[in-house]
Amino acid sequence: MTLPVIRQLPSQLVNQIAAGEIVERPASVLKELLENSIDAGAQQITVELEHGGMRRVSVRDDGHGMMRESLGIALERHATSKIQSQNDLVNVTTMGFRGEALPSMASVSRFSITSRARGEEHAWQVSIDGGGEVSPPEPSAHPVGTTVEMSDLFFNTPARRKFLRTENTEYHHLERRFREQALAHPETGFRLFHNGRAVHNLAATHNKAEQDRRVADVLGKDFIEQCLHVDGLAGDMRLYGWISRPAYSRSQRDQQYFYVNHRFVRDKLLMHSVSQAYRDVLHHQRQPAYVLFLDLPPAQVDVNVHPGKHEVRFREDRQIHGFVSQSLKRVLSETRPGSDLEGDAPQTDTAFQYARQPYQQTVPLQVREQIRSMDTLYRSDDTEEKELLERTDDHPLGYAIAQLHGVFILAQNQQGMIVVDMHAAHERICYEQIKSALDKDRLSAQPLLVPVSLNLSPEEMTVCEKNIQYFNRLGFEVEVITDSVIAIRQVPELLAGADIPNLLRDILSDLAEHGRSSRIEDHIDGILGTMACHGSVRANRHLTLDEMNALLRDMERTERSNQCNHGRPTWIQFDIADIDKWFMRGQ
Ligand code: ADP
Ligand code: MG
Repeated sequence: MTLPVIRQLPSQLVNQIAAGEIVERPASVLKELLENSIDAGAQQITVELEHGGMRRVSVRDDGHGMMRESLGIALERHATSKIQSQNDLVNVTTMGFRGEALPSMASVSRFSITSRARGEEHAWQVSIDGGGEVSPPEPSAHPVGTTVEMSDLFFNTPARRKFLRTENTEYHHLERRFREQALAHPETGFRLFHNGRAVHNLAATHNKAEQDRRVADVLGKDFIEQCLHVDGLAGDMRLYGWISRPAYSRSQRDQQYFYVNHRFVRDKLLMHSVSQAYRDVLHHQRQPAYVLFLDLPPAQVDVNVHPGKHEVRFREDRQIHGFVSQSLKRVLSETRPGSDLEGDAPQTDTAFQYARQPYQQTVPLQVREQIRSMDTLYRSDDTEEKELLERTDDHPLGYAIAQLHGVFILAQNQQGMIVVDMHAAHERICYEQIKSALDKDRLSAQPLLVPVSLNLSPEEMTVCEKNIQYFNRLGFEVEVITDSVIAIRQVPELLAGADIPNLLRDILSDLAEHGRSSRIEDHIDGILGTMACHGSVRANRHLTLDEMNALLRDMERTERSNQCNHGRPTWIQFDIADIDKWFMRGQ
């Protein structure tokens, strides 16, 4: 057997291997280029994208630029101006420091850099194709600053090109990266063009009010109107930003932005500390929205954990977890019952109501309207049902005896006692009704007397425009009024009593989430679940015995009614024999 020969890999291949970690899709290129522009001190950054960035990603800045001699070096592996020693690495304050991005991106695309350094008379341009030879610098016209252009991503690595998705999907990721950076660097102006069309124009901000406006531009007006401001200090740590009130919750994590030293991160520890803060005020299926900045001495956090740098490691992770969740809890506690945020939600069991708040706040009419929708839902059954009750006693879920704490129905059947979670049960029924109506193409719609208008973030608007037809199928009539406002004129009859703005927002974020991966049809269950959740009767609604019995009968008729759409049980049986045992009868 011959021994394997060990060889040094050619540098082009080394770069392509590194690109495997750094460059997943056009969005990763955009992230690296934006970070370089920020590190160069740019005041204004302009991004141009073509065909979801697959054809072209170009980023122009007015930062300090690069000298002629630096252009070629910047494209070499491990070449960086940002750190020189291990000590620099520990105290890194720039976004970049690994010196890998430019050569990696250049190895899998056609790449050019045009730059004029501050104090220089000319701009120079170099280009490189697929990581081959860097062309000698040529004079070029460019103001002080840098433009980097990447085109035809993965043209020389067809296997990787196959992993790219549709233009829409890639664009969605690009826009997300753009928003992440735009939120992190409010003092810089950002512009975004896609296929020649201006999508964002965010002016540089100079004060708090302007920063609020930037957040509104990115997350939507409604968020900023409903958010709470956070600003907390502990030792040399500071946490500040914007978090949603429980009333503005979402079905997806799509509006969560967390930054550590202005670097966007997706960190489990931090996400957990946020959700812990929201645990008591948000239903566990709901997601808060937030833009949060944690600033701490660079030496306290290791950012060199992942080539994409979106994971970090903290030296004092317990301390940070506590600081984040305590700070947020304190701010959120200002929204407890008794404050002006409570709306007209009925006051009964505070603890319970608190947990369900997101469904009850803000729309005082909701509860009353739900009573009406319950009536329409069950009225036809009423008399019929009553007679049935009198005649037979073999209903598996038995007969309602009472309602407990506005939340549970107590019923008696032959085996003993049944406890039903009213909301979960109704959600399940509602879900099946919508689903079967949709299957039979008989989802009836109800025009709204007063159309509801809704402010959307640019991203929500994109998703909305793309799915107008789909909304029609679901029984909504949605009309685009301006580039950030829609009007809802008609809703599915079953949902007439729901909180329409929140419902629409949730469906939009479901669509944004799912539309990315595959056809909407594949996710219909999730979307219907969201709808059902909004349509179902909430806790603390007083039901008459007839209404309760009607609900029990509906449950018996509904497929899989023993579980709500979130997989929680809808009812539990207590056998009389077991109840006997509790009291040690017959022993
Ligand atoms: P890193 O950002 O980790 O240093 P890069 O490969 O992204 O590595 O960039 C290499 C070097 O090129 C940077 O250290 C910087 O000196 C220079 N550079 C890159 N982009 C720009 C830019 N937009 N303006 C000025 N200099 C830049
Ligand atoms: Mg960089």
